Formats: sequence, C-alpha cells, structure tokens
Amino acid sequence: MTKIFIDPGHGGSDPGATGNGLQEKHLTLAIALKLRDILNSQYEGHSIMLSRTTDQNISLSQRTNMANNWGADYLVSIHINAGGGTGFESYTFNGSYSGKAETNRLRGIVHDAVVNQTGFRDRGKKEANFHMLRESAMPAVLTENGFIDHSADAANLKSDAFLTRIARGHAVGLANALGLTPKSSGGDTGTQKFVEIIVDSLWTYNTADWDDKAVVVNRGEVFTVIRDKFPVGGGYMYQIKSGLYITANSSYVRYYTR
Ligand SMILES: [Zn+2]
Repeated sequence: MTKIFIDPGHGGSDPGATGNGLQEKHLTLAIALKLRDILNSQYEGHSIMLSRTTDQNISLSQRTNMANNWGADYLVSIHINAGGGTGFESYTFNGSYSGKAETNRLRGIVHDAVVNQTGFRDRGKKEANFHMLRESAMPAVLTENGFIDHSADAANLKSDAFLTRIARGHAVGLANALGLTPKSSGGDTGTQKFVEIIVDSLWTYNTADWDDKAVVVNRGEVFTVIRDKFPVGGGYMYQIKSGLYITANSSYVRYYTR
C-alpha cells in the first residue's frame, strides 16, 4: 500500500502569495483536493493523507510530523509562486542525504508530467533548504505552479479547468513515479485496453468536447483506455488513464486489448 501525503501550502491566517485577486492558500487546496480525487478515482492500491482539507492554520512542523508519523512513502507539497517570473519549477532538498538520487529521479517524473499536462514554461528542477523537504523522512517534492503575480499565469490559475490540469499532471507523475495501479474499467479485470497513436501528432481533450483541447500526443505513444468508445458530436472518443479524452477514429489511433 503506497502512502501518498499531499500538502496544500499555507492556509488559515497565512494566505501565502497573493496577487491578481488570488490567494495561494485557496489555489493549493483546490489543486490538492483535485489531485486526491483523480488518484482515488483512477488508481487503486494506494492511500492518501492531506495535511489539510479546509482553510485552516497548520504549522510546517505539524505538516511534516503528520507525514512522518503516518509513515508516508512520498510527500508532495503544492505551492504557487510569486516575485516576478512565469511557469513551473519544483524543488527537492539541497542537503546531502541517503536516497537523494532516488528522490531526484522520482521528482523528475512528477515535474515532467506537470509541465506536459499544463504547458507551463519549464523553469527547471531545483533544490532548496525548505522545511517540508528537509524535515520529511521520505522522498519529497515541492511544486511551484505558476506565478500569482504574473497576469497570464494568474489568468490560468483563475480557471478551474486549468487547476484540474495541474492536478492531473501531479496525478500522472505520481502514478508513474510510484507505480500506482490503474483501476480496471468495469468487471473484466483480465483484459486491458489500449490506444496507440498512428499519426505524427494528435490532440487530446480535457473533457468529452472537441473544442476543449488539452495536450498533443505523438506517434507511437500508447495509452490505457479507461472508458470504451462513446459518441461525441458526430464522432467517437475514448477516455484514457490520465483522465483525458482522445478520438476513437481508426485513421488516427489503433485500439487493441491485451
Ligand atoms: Zn507557498
């Protein structure tokens, strides 16, 4: 049972960064709750603890104590940046410690998935002496998801669909990094369903809507199908493991089972 500790930064009397009418504490909580829900709806064999599920005060020590006492296998602390800049960056502890290489390997998977799902400018994989990273007894990552004081980032952060993309990026990254088990779609647990991309590039969709484009995928990529072909506006879609949707047109994708 993989134990994942999710820490929405700030809360209560500590709003975190503010700007453009936004408060960091509300965004981090929204992303964390979405992340929990995506992981629980699409994967199994893990358990999740959040440092907070409401707008409340919790000290940094309380947060790492919770994760350490629970015996979490992985900690992700979710934040929004400020101070001039744009895009996404992630942090691991900058000290020397056993398991550092593994911590950075796992972080790389989570980091790349968030960049991939959001289209954020990639500011890099960084290290710092942050409490949440230093005082946690398990591999830990702290993510900084856009700049609250940057107008374009803030416009994105005001969109619930964009917060879902940030959460989905974390979910896909955590699932790949920690080897979570996708939930089977329906009763036939023996057979898994896949689509392979057979054109150079192809859009995916955030929702079952041809106008709600998400990210581009490329020839040869294979995705697990979690919802069988269903009609959408004159065509057909599958839903894939990341939660995104993709065309079911056999000119673009090859469907197979295994
Ligand atoms: Zn913060």
